[in-house]
Formats: sequence, C-alpha cells, structure tokens
Amino acid sequence: MSSPFRSKLVAAGAVLGGLALAAGLAFAQAPAFLRIATGSTTGTYYPIGRLIAGAISSPPELAVTAVASSGSVDNVNAIAGGSVESGFVQADIAYWAYSATGVFQGRPPMEELRSIANLYPESVHLVVRKAANVQSVADLKGKRVSLDEPGSGTLLNAKAILAAFGLGDRDIVGIYMSSEQAAVEMRAGAIDAFFLTSGFPATAIADLASAGAGIDILPITGAPAEKLTRDFPFFAADEIPAGTYRDVGAVRTVAVGAHWVTSSKVPADTVYAVTRALWSDKTRAALDAGHAKGKAIQKATALSGLQGVPLHPGAERFYREAGLLK
Ligand code: GLU
Repeated sequence: MSSPFRSKLVAAGAVLGGLALAAGLAFAQAPAFLRIATGSTTGTYYPIGRLIAGAISSPPELAVTAVASSGSVDNVNAIAGGSVESGFVQADIAYWAYSATGVFQGRPPMEELRSIANLYPESVHLVVRKAANVQSVADLKGKRVSLDEPGSGTLLNAKAILAAFGLGDRDIVGIYMSSEQAAVEMRAGAIDAFFLTSGFPATAIADLASAGAGIDILPITGAPAEKLTRDFPFFAADEIPAGTYRDVGAVRTVAVGAHWVTSSKVPADTVYAVTRALWSDKTRAALDAGHAKGKAIQKATALSGLQGVPLHPGAERFYREAGLLK
C-alpha cells in the first residue's frame, strides 16, 4: 500500500528535481512540474496517466509524470499533503474528501482540492473464479473476497456494495490486496472473488481473461443496486459490453466518474497549460490510439459531474476560452 507509493514518489521527485536544475539554468521563468498520482500498475488510472503525461509534457516548460499509488484515497491524501501536485480520483472520494462527509466524516475537509477535468466512467468489476460457484453477490457469503487495498477507492465501494446486498464484514473472508496481487491469487485458486472499480478494460482482469483463467464478472443489479445509486448519487447504472474481456458476456453494474484533481496551491498558469494540453489534438490522438478507455475521455464531458469539488482557476480559464463555460 503506502510504501511502494512513497518510494515511487521519491523516485519521481528525484527525476523532477534534476529537470528543475537543468531547466533553471536555461530558462529565466520557472518550469512547471506536475505529478499525477494514479493507481496500481494493473488498473486503468496508471496507463491512462502515463498516456496523458507523455502527451502533455513539453519539457523543460512543462514536465508531467504519472506515479503509481494505492488509488483514490491515497491520491487525495497526497494532494492535500503536498507530496504530489495532482491525481486521478473517483468522484465519490473527491467529494467526500473535499467536504469531510461520507467516509471522510470527522476529518478536516481537504479544502485545497480543485478539479481539472472529468475523465471517464469507472465500472465496478466483481470478478469471480468460475470454479468457486458464485452466481450472485449474496453467494459471496463465506467466500474469500479481496476488497482491494487500504488507500484505494475500490475498497470503499466494495464495502458499500456488500452492505447494500446485506453482507457485513463477518459474512465473508475479507482480504485486502491490490488488483495486481488479487489476480495472482485468483489464478492460484487462493481467492474466490475480487472487486475493482476501474475503467474497462482493466489490465489485471483483461490479463486473467486472456490467460483463460476461468473468470466471470457478476452483475450488480436489482433493488440493492438501485438503493446504492439512490444513496450515493455519484453511482450510475452501467454496462460492461460483451467481449470486453475474453469469454465474458455483457455485465450490468454501476459506475462512478474518474476525475483529475489538483491543489489550489498549484499555480493557475501551470493548470491552464495542463488543461489546454489535455484537450489538444496531440493528446486526442494519443488517447484514441493508446488505450480503449482513452476514447471515453472527451472535451464535451470535461465538466460533467464536477460539482463536488470546485474547478481550479487555471482550468476554468481554459474552459471559458474554449466556450465550455460562460
Ligand atoms: N478507482 C480505483 C481506486 O481509486 C483505481 C482504478 C484504476 O487504477 O484504474 O481505487
């Protein structure tokens, strides 16, 4: 969980520090650096973060790097704590962190959080080992289920979903590991199911399916799912199309938006440059070619569902110029 996160951040910081030094010699104006905290390397945040970072970087003026992390909760903590400049965060987690509500109730509100853009929907994947004979969420009773690691947004969604279906902590054998580890354990037959809230196709699941590991994805539907979307307005009904994962049919589930979030402490000029570069033709081409979820990242939906966390003034400037905001 947090130790690989920290070590990756330290490594990224060293590279950026070197760039800062090199750039400082050649340019009077300070170059801008921005790290994007993402998620596990086997999710979708990480490859999308790398794609975006590669497309929008124009060193030495603007150097952007993607760093791995445990996911949304880790990312808001790191942004608020100042150890990264930005990160990808689920809409539910961003809102709760900013307003100190939901799972962040009782903690100081992370008032410095600011939105850059809505990116794409993240679908709740409930992956099961076919041989474990689990046909519905209720069948998870007594099974070995990974809810993802502490620091992930998935963990909080997994708990909310189990609760909506009437399952408490004691009804399952809860295991807390990243999707990367969960995929290994599932292949070994050591766990029966795992949750992953991630844009499809998520690498860990795509790899399992292509390897013929005998997996299925369970629907999250019916009255409990409807209650979930009522109680948590960030969730919406969603479908993972047939064939997204080899030999897995269409799956009805729920989804939440993936947002790119930064801090009010990051200068407006930097966030303006980042936002403009995100919606440039160059980045468009990279997103369309680089990942199946890249196509879902569209300027037309850049501001969708961002009500929970205010726009950064630098991003706002771009959206006004682009005519997306009046
Ligand atoms: N939404 C997940 C989380 O915050 C990460 C998904 C991903 O890495 O694609 O835990």
